Amino acid sequence: TPSPEASGLQNERTLLFPNGPARSTARWGPQHAGARELANLYSPGKRSQEWISVVLCFSLIAFNFCYLLANFHLGHMWYILLGIVAGILTADFASGLVHWGADTWGSVALPIFGKAFIRPFREHHIDPTAITRHDFIETNGDNCMLTLIPLAHMAFNFLTLSPAELCHNYPWHCYVMALAIFITLTNQIHKWSHTYFGLPGWVVFLQNCHIILPRKHHRIHHVSPHETYFCITTGWLNYPLESLGFWSKLEDLIQSVTGEKPRSDDLKWAHKTK
Ligand SMILES: [Zn+2]
Ligand SMILES: [Zn+2]
Repeated sequence: TPSPEASGLQNERTLLFPNGPARSTARWGPQHAGARELANLYSPGKRSQEWISVVLCFSLIAFNFCYLLANFHLGHMWYILLGIVAGILTADFASGLVHWGADTWGSVALPIFGKAFIRPFREHHIDPTAITRHDFIETNGDNCMLTLIPLAHMAFNFLTLSPAELCHNYPWHCYVMALAIFITLTNQIHKWSHTYFGLPGWVVFLQNCHIILPRKHHRIHHVSPHETYFCITTGWLNYPLESLGFWSKLEDLIQSVTGEKPRSDDLKWAHKTK
């Protein structure tokens, strides 16, 4: 069997060289019957939800960021750093949990939710570089929606709390801010991890330093049956979670309670031929 990285590359090569040997079978990529059907389910209503989420989310991030900068003081520097690192780690874990949940359970056939939120995960496995052809709104819309409520709550705090209370809560707000920013950017970071041409130098630098998800690291997830390395923000937690067998233990537990088989919907889409 090929190494995980080699077969991950094979998936992507299908798209880089569409006239290569894989074309006749359309095993992966935009010609795959399942990928075409999933791409067609992207609706105008969904598009509006994404636009509204992106505009509101980035406005709130800018507002909160200015407020944090204006109130910055060196008093609790270590707590601030701790808050930021903890926020990034929490975001990485959350990305893994949501990605694992959507990849492993549920189905595109679920009412509303399936089409809007499970569909992109199924599409991504059978057409991994489709994400590189999505624009900024489609890439980031869903994650922007997720962080709207905590960001709005933080802005409300900044407008209503006394200066003494704000000073006391400052490291906590740094934690929430780092968490919200990294959750918001997770799919952008994920998109960069699939992009092999034309990335800005600073993005490649952040990938090489493993401050954001490196391309080589994420390829390990893209090996059928897609059962490991689910964290896609920094990927830092993939190492400890893999050595603990965290996801497979959780799957065994859920299967023993519900009787559901992990990844059954994902496998169904992967094998779709018409
Ligand atoms: Zn996946
Ligand atoms: Zn991916």
